[in-house]
Amino acid sequence: MTAVRTAAVIGGGIAGHTAALALHKAGIEATVYEGYASSAEKIGGAIALAANGVAALEVIGAESAVLDHSYPISRQVTRIGTKTITMPALPDLPAMRIVLRQDLYGALQEQATDLGIATHYGKRLVAADQDGTGVTARFEDGSSAEVDLIIGADGVHSTVRQLIDPDAPGPRYTGLLALDGRSDLEAGEPDVMSFAFGSKAYYLFWRHPDGGTVWGANLPRPTPMSVRDARAIEAEQWRQTLLETYGSDAPGGELIRRTPADRLNATGALYIMPSVPHWSRDRLVIIGDAAHAPSNSSGQGASLAIESAIELAKCLRDASSVQAATAAYEALRRPRVERIAKQASRINRTKAPGRFGQVVAASIMPLVMAAAMRPEKIFGPTLRYRIDWDDAVRV
Ligand SMILES: Cc1cc2nc3c(=O)[nH]c(=O)nc-3n(C[C@H](O)[C@H](O)[C@H](O)COP(=O)(O)OP(=O)(O)OC[C@H]3O[C@@H](n4cnc5c(N)ncnc54)[C@H](O)[C@@H]3O)c2cc1C
Repeated sequence: MTAVRTAAVIGGGIAGHTAALALHKAGIEATVYEGYASSAEKIGGAIALAANGVAALEVIGAESAVLDHSYPISRQVTRIGTKTITMPALPDLPAMRIVLRQDLYGALQEQATDLGIATHYGKRLVAADQDGTGVTARFEDGSSAEVDLIIGADGVHSTVRQLIDPDAPGPRYTGLLALDGRSDLEAGEPDVMSFAFGSKAYYLFWRHPDGGTVWGANLPRPTPMSVRDARAIEAEQWRQTLLETYGSDAPGGELIRRTPADRLNATGALYIMPSVPHWSRDRLVIIGDAAHAPSNSSGQGASLAIESAIELAKCLRDASSVQAATAAYEALRRPRVERIAKQASRINRTKAPGRFGQVVAASIMPLVMAAAMRPEKIFGPTLRYRIDWDDAVRV
């Protein structure tokens, strides 16, 4: 039935390797092309994978990529100054899982390799030439690949998005830098993730099962900074910068003071993708952060990337033309990802610089209370979403 036999997946992150595994299940031959020279170059901190993301991986038999390398967090609390509000968990849903980004990437790629799916490193896509019968992916090193379809899983700064539409909007800087670490301090209760609004900025933390506390900071900064530039700064210098913002917060200040330098990481600027008008053009299509990067407040970026990768593969399996498949994919995915992005953007506004102190308490409290009073309404549609692989897509 499918009009696509071969696909070049651009980007070897979560969306890219999930797409390759899903395409394989759909009977389509996929090859992954990653711009970095090795997977080790993009190591980051921990990711919290929500129940819908883990369930989506189950559809393609890849849930062990998360379950074998992660630990659960079953409760969440919001701390605003000295107030703590417990968020009720949804009954019958599995806990979110914390996994190191490098472990998840590694496990997905290993599974792909075991199935005969190749990942080529050092292959940065720079152009694509389409004709009536196929598309040629052109890489920076001068090499190329001829396929039926190019899938852009190339993140917020996507090249494929630009090739689809040179006028496509780029990512919007949130005004926040991401840093994380693992402190020797034992803060909060085991199995609980705390979202903390300190006196000047937002941070989050949870206990690591092997001891200590993992924390993540959203540090206000007027201009963005690349991962490379952020990592060029010494950990001790970052500690001083973080203490200027979080030093008087409890437990934020102590968490940072008691983080060994080799466990303090800078990840660079946090971005959000505004609504992208075109997700595809002829034989080019985008998935994951390239198409829809919600604010990190949603806790859904990775899960939505996984879902989109699998649903695109389903559409390609069932449609008789590339255009019908990509149109069906966008119709299936756009309403969901835009609803979640909108919900998260309300929370993100409260994290923005200049909103802290009295102002933040006033603005975040109604949102937190609404979520605490009606968890099913606020979180149910996001977390209970399930993909039925056997259900044919109507195209
Ligand atoms: C600090 C931080 C914390 C986060 N925490 C969470 C969390 O707890 N839970 C959650 O669900 N989400 C979280 N997210 C979001 C999540 O990481 C992303 O939504 C997810 O990684 C998107 O995956 P992706 O594969 O679409 O993009 P990416 O992970 O960005 O992967 C894109 C890949 O494409 C490659 N690439 C780019 N351009 C090219 C090119 N031209 N040619 C070839 N390759 C190219 C890149 O090198 C990269 O490997 C977080 C994000 C950040 C920044």
